[in-house]
Amino acid sequence: MSRENLVGRLPSELEDLAAALGASRYRGRQVATWIYRKGVFDLEAMTDLPKDFRERLALGACIAVPEPERVEPSRDGSRKLVFVLGDGSRVSSVLMPDDDRMTLCVSTQVGCGFECRFCLTGVMGLERNLTPAEIVGQVLAANRLLAPGQRVTHIVFMGMGEPLANFAALVTSLRILSDARLGVGYSPRRITVSTVGLVPGIEKLGRENLKVNLAVSLHAATDQARERLMPVNRSFDLAALMAALRRYPLAPRQRIFFEYVLLDGVNDTPEEARRLAQLLRGLRAKVNLIPFNDWEGAEFRRPPLPRILAFQSVLLDAGITTTVRWSKGEDIGAACGQLRESVTA
Ligand code: SF4
Repeated sequence: MSRENLVGRLPSELEDLAAALGASRYRGRQVATWIYRKGVFDLEAMTDLPKDFRERLALGACIAVPEPERVEPSRDGSRKLVFVLGDGSRVSSVLMPDDDRMTLCVSTQVGCGFECRFCLTGVMGLERNLTPAEIVGQVLAANRLLAPGQRVTHIVFMGMGEPLANFAALVTSLRILSDARLGVGYSPRRITVSTVGLVPGIEKLGRENLKVNLAVSLHAATDQARERLMPVNRSFDLAALMAALRRYPLAPRQRIFFEYVLLDGVNDTPEEARRLAQLLRGLRAKVNLIPFNDWEGAEFRRPPLPRILAFQSVLLDAGITTTVRWSKGEDIGAACGQLRESVTA
């Protein structure tokens, strides 16, 4: 009989488990603290738990954190961690150092079913959803890999997959990662969930009141242009998406991030920038422009630098905070839209 993984369980579920084993709920809180706060994955090392409780726990449960199969360092300091999961599937996370930040980009699905035309992950198709253990496990594994004293400081759900299409596992993972008392303890302000614009998912996420940041992959300012790049726009057009975003509950000073990949000759004209500014009018928004990261077989190219800067200045002139995000890890296939691992071992 396979033993249940304690990683990916909410602290309250670990309390329930302790109670079911005849121990006090406090024992469950201790287990949560060892795994999530202290990063200890060996029941034997949890020295303040009574030996008989540890033994009973070990009979039906284990602590399994994904091991990176390989770590690929980039020239720019970022590192791609490739994990082999229990069924042989592979997913990636990317560690991106920047000044005093250490951002981890995590995956939520093996592959992705949304087929954005500029994204290599979309070419794979969807294999399956990740479990909370596999999502939270990426963060725990990355923290274990870092040098003593270093820790992931920010988490972005922008790796393989569409987070809101794996909603239940996403929300459980967010609760564990942001639980300040018994979870991993990240401030929700340091966690960003990215979506292609699944309107029902955005509404549901708003109701969860998790206070994490929301990033929307926009990539075009008209339905016609967006449909060409992102088939999901046929299900949720820009009017529906923008209406949902205007209703999204934002904390004071919180903004919605808009990701916009710049594709040469496709969506990079000053006119398109003006349409984008119009679309975002009145929203607390920040735009991240991402010059396209090339991959073999891609039908798109990165625009020349002057065009990138001209696009940015139209938005800045309209009063919209806009940065150009030069992706990390381009040389190791770890940049935005480049994540693709062979699915089986
Ligand atoms: S950009 Fe995101 S949603 Fe679109 S295909 Fe790639 S991984 Fe999927």
